[in-house]
Amino acid sequence: MTIAEIKTEFYNAITNCKTVSELQDLKVKYLGKTGELTAVLKSIKDLPAEERPSFGAKVNELRKEMESCFGQRAELLKSEEMQRRLREEKVDISLTSYPRRGALHPVTLVEREICDLMIAMGFEVLSGPEIETDYYNFQALNIPEDHPARDMQDTFYVTDSILLRTQTSAMQARLMERKNPPLKVVCPGKVYRSDSDASHSPVFHQIEGLVVDKNITLCDLKGTLEYLASHLFGANTKVRFRPSFFPFTEPSVEVDVTCSNCGGKGCSLCKGTGWIELLGAGMVNPVVLENCGIDSTKYNGYAFGIGMDRVAMIKYGIPDIRLFFENDQRFLKQFSK
Ligand SMILES: [Zn+2]
Repeated sequence: MTIAEIKTEFYNAITNCKTVSELQDLKVKYLGKTGELTAVLKSIKDLPAEERPSFGAKVNELRKEMESCFGQRAELLKSEEMQRRLREEKVDISLTSYPRRGALHPVTLVEREICDLMIAMGFEVLSGPEIETDYYNFQALNIPEDHPARDMQDTFYVTDSILLRTQTSAMQARLMERKNPPLKVVCPGKVYRSDSDASHSPVFHQIEGLVVDKNITLCDLKGTLEYLASHLFGANTKVRFRPSFFPFTEPSVEVDVTCSNCGGKGCSLCKGTGWIELLGAGMVNPVVLENCGIDSTKYNGYAFGIGMDRVAMIKYGIPDIRLFFENDQRFLKQFSK
């Protein structure tokens, strides 16, 4: 091969060289001990003596040219390779391939908030069984068999005498039987009734409050609920009592709070009344105290039961109770902080 042929072939080869390792192979091919240019240089001995110096000079010139080309090409390829790796190995920190943080369920948020407020007022937090006897759920609370009040609650029966509790009030008698007054407790938990529509679910959440001591009045109940409502729905929230009936309290009241949406002026949420019905409450019926072995001439008390799902619906503007139980992440993640 002539010097000119080697030169042409070399320039083609180096231009097509795409990686640093290909370039190194090429360098060996031309400039190595058994490389093309070395072979050409060895053929110098076959030339006439007078031609040897100029031939040797041309080969050396080409060698220098090639070395310079290798150097430049190597720089270029290294920098291209660096750019490619920066592109390909880039970590996109905006991609959410890492585990997403969970969020507390809105009912859990409400439960924790209410419990914190009650603890601050000196209440103890207790829990009771969800599978309950007819006695604790009804009879001890002054609701004997065939009492019309049982129709108010569509009950899931397990057997004739065992049922899924319809109210957290079932905890009252269990507690009063084993502990003497003064009592100051709340009991949050699941309750069950055979009912289902946009504002009723077969399972929902209540929190029961019970105070038994000497000289307890409706004013104590109202003060407690005002404190609770003002922290749950805003400082200007007002509370009103309307007379009602529950077998386990006497007198009994329905408790309304001023609408947190319109501040009491009237809107679609409160159906124009300015008030929202929140819970049932009353003074513990002396019959219930006596059923649990507490002297009703010495002690009295109040009780209330709050629907925590209802509180969450009002507080967060949730239109349908069933959303709480569908586990749709699009709904749940709205409550992530
Ligand atoms: Zn309103």
